[in-house]
Amino acid sequence: MMYDSDNIFAKILRGEIPNETVYEDDYVLAFNDIAPLASTHILVIPKGQYVDMTDFSENATPEEIVALNRAIATIVKDRNLHLNGYRLISNAGKDGGQEVPHLHWHILGGEKIGPLRNIS
Ligand code: AMP
Repeated sequence: MMYDSDNIFAKILRGEIPNETVYEDDYVLAFNDIAPLASTHILVIPKGQYVDMTDFSENATPEEIVALNRAIATIVKDRNLHLNGYRLISNAGKDGGQEVPHLHWHILGGEKIGPLRNIS
């Protein structure tokens, strides 16, 4: 799939749409989801233009890949989510229910969340 630079996260990265930033470095931006499904619901995105995890894993630089993974750990530990647990989800494509075609990891936690099959 070709990257569509009109997607909403591309606009957030360009500063055209506001966001509640919780973490940022040279390669990564993380912000609160606008429609949270748990008391903590953070989206973690690469600043580079990648559609989904397949695209990212095949085409991102080692630095970008390490930065995204480390950012998730930093955010989780800053909020003590590792103590009681959390869930990571990255939807891809039509069957995966991906709404925004820029790679993002959902970090869900801060309370006991339901079984995976109940996440809408
Ligand atoms: P997905 O269905 O995995 O593509 O998830 C897209 C997520 O982006 C949803 O959880 C939306 O609530 C969230 N979202 C959409 N627009 C915004 C926005 N402007 N700021 C923050 N989160 C957003």
